[in-house]
Amino acid sequence: MIPSSSLLRLHETIRSCKSCGLHATRTQAVPGVGPCPADLMIVGEAPGFNEDRQGEPFVGAAGKLLDTLLARIGLSRADVYITNVLKCRPPMNRDPMPNEAEACSPYLSQQLDLIKPKAVLILGRHALERLMPGQGSISRIHGSLIKRGDVAYIPLYHPAAALHNGSLVADLERDFDQVKRYLDQLLAPPPPPVPVAASKQESEQLRLL
Ligand code: SF4
Repeated sequence: MIPSSSLLRLHETIRSCKSCGLHATRTQAVPGVGPCPADLMIVGEAPGFNEDRQGEPFVGAAGKLLDTLLARIGLSRADVYITNVLKCRPPMNRDPMPNEAEACSPYLSQQLDLIKPKAVLILGRHALERLMPGQGSISRIHGSLIKRGDVAYIPLYHPAAALHNGSLVADLERDFDQVKRYLDQLLAPPPPPVPVAASKQESEQLRLL
């Protein structure tokens, strides 16, 4: 599906943004990629080395793991909209600074408004802190579903964390299996209408026959 013109305009705005100091060290901004609207949206932390070079989120080793996890539940990146809390790479992949996340947050809010996801996968503690402040640590709530309005948020470990700590891969696989179960429920078509009893008039006509 081709992204909507509103989303393309937002991407252009992000590409020329200079609202925080990261614009000075980036190769290019990385707005996001995927269909609009989309049932599922994925939000990570920030672009890394490869993303900064290629202008697309999750294209390095962590992205390959994400692709594998999506395939595990029958999805590909063409099915989901993928972005990060920060649209520009912090130097040496350092943690996002609060002022940077604050400056960039309107873009994520606008993306959520345009994409209109039914479910959002929150990858890692920085994205969790931005989208669900005070909700608890990622190690405690990963794999759980938190409903906010019409949107279901599901915190997960960041794939990059699993690349550094192999024991988290099994957690991610289990959590993605759980994501599949959540999505099956969230995206299930509404049940067919229950047949209504014959109207009173029809009942009367039947009685007179
Ligand atoms: S990180 Fe966000 S706020 Fe900072 S320059 Fe990039 S797009 Fe603008």
